[in-house]
Amino acid sequence: KLHNQVQELKGNIRVFCRVRPVLGKESDEAAKISFPDTDKDSKEVTIQGPEQKTALGKVTATSNAFSFDRVFGPSSQNAEVFEEISQLVQSALDGYNVCIFCYGQTGSGKTHTMSTPIDGMIPRAVQQIYATAKDLEEKGWKYTMEGSFVEVYNENLNDLLGNANEFDKKKHEIRHDMQKMKTTITDITTVLLDSPEKVESILERASTNRSVAATKANERSSRSHSVFILKLIGENSITGERSEGTLNLVDLAGSERLGHSQATGERLKETQNINKSLSCLGDVIGALGQGKEGGHIPYRNSKLTYLLQFSLGGNSKTLMFVMISPLQAHLGETLTSLKFATKVH
Ligand code: ADP
Ligand code: MG
Repeated sequence: KLHNQVQELKGNIRVFCRVRPVLGKESDEAAKISFPDTDKDSKEVTIQGPEQKTALGKVTATSNAFSFDRVFGPSSQNAEVFEEISQLVQSALDGYNVCIFCYGQTGSGKTHTMSTPIDGMIPRAVQQIYATAKDLEEKGWKYTMEGSFVEVYNENLNDLLGNANEFDKKKHEIRHDMQKMKTTITDITTVLLDSPEKVESILERASTNRSVAATKANERSSRSHSVFILKLIGENSITGERSEGTLNLVDLAGSERLGHSQATGERLKETQNINKSLSCLGDVIGALGQGKEGGHIPYRNSKLTYLLQFSLGGNSKTLMFVMISPLQAHLGETLTSLKFATKVH
């Protein structure tokens, strides 16, 4: 039995696992996954491999156990998931740079977790930040909140709040100010979030833009990464303090391995870019988790890690959700995802 123990929490990287439920329309057999469904402190998920007959006719099944900082079973709700990340979200108000990723194959629940209107991590995070900022007014704090939403597709940046007809044509540059440790993207739409409701129109706009672009390049959302960027600038009129934090909420491209042999042209390019950026993300987070802070971290190897350079490592906090499907048919991808997540943990 292979057992991946929880490693001692190194740096500021945490990994959560979430198993989605079997959906009503799904008739496939559910995989033998045991997850602690009701236990609040559950940290382990066990996958039962397919049964095999040995030479002696004995039936055996391999079992793989994986440990994470938290495991959410299929009946978990977004509200419960948010509870576990709310402190992390809050720390962006204290001036931290925070990154929360959803990793997993297409259909594993990344977008459900991140972007469901009102209920997902993005709207919940904005609501909470807004409420806390209001409470902090008493203590003299005044916050400005700005949101933008970008897509990384084929190692190219697109403005999800801009015009979908300009996707893949207009060039957006990433500019890093190494002195101030600040990142800007040229020609990007920034929305002042002066009321918490505005986040819903942002999500709607981004979703519409993605579906407009999808008619041209099939299934776009599963082939690209989307990054919701919330900048929080605070000033305290009593103490004169200032704080600047960023919250990045990232819905990653589907992690499924697509057979290189069949893919050609545009599809092959997409696949290579997804593989490259996901493995680069794993390398960066893995290196940071091993405390290689002072050494070389390969941020420049992909657009996504380059964009998030100042929000990964240093004075920042990172959380990775690994999303898994409960279906037997997806078992191979599930194991691959869990192994990836264990590596960065
Ligand atoms: P992904 O973004 O990873 O491709 P989705 O978030 O679109 O996957 O999820 C695939 C389907 O499963 C959607 O219909 C979604 O509503 C549903 N789903 C995912 N996670 C859950 C969950 N925790 N509870 C209920 N339905 C879910
Ligand atoms: Mg999705």
